[in-house]
Amino acid sequence: MDIDQAVKTTPVSARALTGCRHRLALEARAPQGDPDPGMALRVEAAAVFRASVRDRLPGLTVIEPGEGAVRRTLAAMDAGAERIWGAVLPTAHDRRGHSELLLRLADGYIPIIVVNHKTCDPGAGATTSPLDRWEPREDEAVRTRPHRGDAMRLAHLTRMLQELGRGSRTLLGGSIGVDGARIVVHEVGPLLAAYEERFADRRDVLAGTAPTEPVRVAECRRCPGGRSARRPSPRRGT
Ligand code: SF4
Repeated sequence: MDIDQAVKTTPVSARALTGCRHRLALEARAPQGDPDPGMALRVEAAAVFRASVRDRLPGLTVIEPGEGAVRRTLAAMDAGAERIWGAVLPTAHDRRGHSELLLRLADGYIPIIVVNHKTCDPGAGATTSPLDRWEPREDEAVRTRPHRGDAMRLAHLTRMLQELGRGSRTLLGGSIGVDGARIVVHEVGPLLAAYEERFADRRDVLAGTAPTEPVRVAECRRCPGGRSARRPSPRRGT
């Protein structure tokens, strides 16, 4: 696929940090006209799951989505809200992002993301916290299930909180997975160097200053470009 040379600078979202960078470049220039038909269902299922988690969390300051969400998020921080649900951070420094939950520790906020996949497996050694209070401790029942996308998103949100002057120096983050039973605690500090490298690349891709090319990846199966590439050519005479 050729890429139009027209360039528009777009802030980097957490979603842009993983996946095919060629697709990212294409979509930055023209939204794909043939979206993944399963995407709407997945988005809807994820929203239902997030709502079920929200309903089990106590003490939330809920930010309603839509216009003014950034202002309301900042106001909640100013007011010292302990748990901010649906937080939308100001777009700045070429980054935009939101966190299902911001948790206030003694010296600032950490991001907690809610994801529609497993974040842990049976085993031992993960650091987890109960949903209703922040008490991280070693968990003898589960081990952390690594997920590149989650790691990059937590690093992205941590950077945004730092740049806003609201981040906790603990550099911790958390994820709540499909079991909805616990917060899996992540140390974000060790992820930041890899994150910065990835962020710089995706920022350049979005700006049109980094070359990209098609590669065969699993994502091709769900990509409009991948589907058209696999479509058989019409037979002659038909
Ligand atoms: S078809 Fe594959 S290589 Fe091409 S843009 Fe889509 S995901 Fe990337």
